[in-house]
Amino acid sequence: MMRLPKFRYYAPTTVREALRIRAGEGPDAAYVAGGTDLYPNMKRRQQTPKVVIGLSRVRALGRLRVGESGASIGAAVTLSAIETHRRMRRAYPALVHAIEEISTPPLRNMGTLGGNLLLDTRCNYYDQNYEWRQAIDFCMKKDGVICWVAPGSPKCLAVQSADSVPILIALSARAVLASPEGEREVPVEDLYANDGIHYLTKRPEELLTEIRVPKSEGWRTAYRKLRRRGSFDFPVLSVGVAVRLEGERVAEARIVLGAVASAPVRATRAEAILAGSSFDMAAITEAARAAAQPSKPMDNTDFSFLWRKEMTARWVSQALRGAASKGSLRKP
Ligand SMILES: Cc1cc2nc3c(=O)[nH]c(=O)nc-3n(C[C@H](O)[C@H](O)[C@H](O)COP(=O)(O)OP(=O)(O)OC[C@H]3O[C@@H](n4cnc5c(N)ncnc54)[C@H](O)[C@@H]3O)c2cc1C
Ligand code: SF4
Repeated sequence: MMRLPKFRYYAPTTVREALRIRAGEGPDAAYVAGGTDLYPNMKRRQQTPKVVIGLSRVRALGRLRVGESGASIGAAVTLSAIETHRRMRRAYPALVHAIEEISTPPLRNMGTLGGNLLLDTRCNYYDQNYEWRQAIDFCMKKDGVICWVAPGSPKCLAVQSADSVPILIALSARAVLASPEGEREVPVEDLYANDGIHYLTKRPEELLTEIRVPKSEGWRTAYRKLRRRGSFDFPVLSVGVAVRLEGERVAEARIVLGAVASAPVRATRAEAILAGSSFDMAAITEAARAAAQPSKPMDNTDFSFLWRKEMTARWVSQALRGAASKGSLRKP
């Protein structure tokens, strides 16, 4: 049985207190929200904080509001609170659908949206227990020096696998980060770096406090996820799309791929192909083909990477067709 290592636990009740504790404890401290990613990682000794700062009692992080200008989702709002929120379901069907696809109901009762955005990158050579990793002399992401996926690679290629991220980027969501210096707001898209180890641009001491999603009126959206098991599994390819029509023509399109690199990937050429088109099958097929080009999955998750690349065009096409027919929310 894998056991948690010893650690000191704090339960602040305000953002200011959480930041103060983090400033006092330094880099040995980690925030935890639902703990569905951090605690398994600690059991596998992938992350080894000596101090854990729990966020579940910080009330400001647990607020969820949907108003005229969009949604404000506290970073510690649970995934199940979002999926059962009537106004969220109506206003952001594709985001809710993506959230429904995350792990299992008990884990969604604990897991939070903030934790999902900041999920550790994944790799078959890394998501193993300590003894397994020790047997291969570890790898560059933790305790070792070499990358087993691409031994010549100067950087880790572990995969960004959070379900909510591609569709949040397609919806132009923004993240609010707090630190002792104050608050800053960044597009969710800018939170990520294409490096499996340093996969966040957020500074380690910064606390993610809120996710702001602009109003989605006029946008057609969809989320599509490829995984082995329908019951629960991380995505090995995911697609978030948002398309805005003006009259019969596409005014703006956003297509975002997940699980094909260490950061989410914008399919900008495909977006340009759709813009100005009449959003018909010809345009969708051409855009889907173009979207597969920046998709460069590596051989470090489930399924063959060549097949995952091949599936990109098909998944983008399905997502765009879903958006065209406005049918992006599957009822539970
Ligand atoms: C069996 C299993 C299946 C899973 N399947 C999926 C899946 O299909 N799709 C998917 O996307 N995820 C999946 N997950 C991962 C996880 O459950 C979700 O990503 C969940 O949303 C993580 O949220 P959390 O609150 O539990 O994160 P935590 O574990 O609390 O935190 C995750 C990371 O974010 C940091 N953090 C959390 N909140 C903040 C904050 N507010 N500010 C700064 N740092 C913060 C933590 O320090 C940690 O590094 C799965 C997990 C398990 C165990
Ligand atoms: S991509 Fe390479 S360095 Fe990164 S976790 Fe996998 S094996 Fe390790």
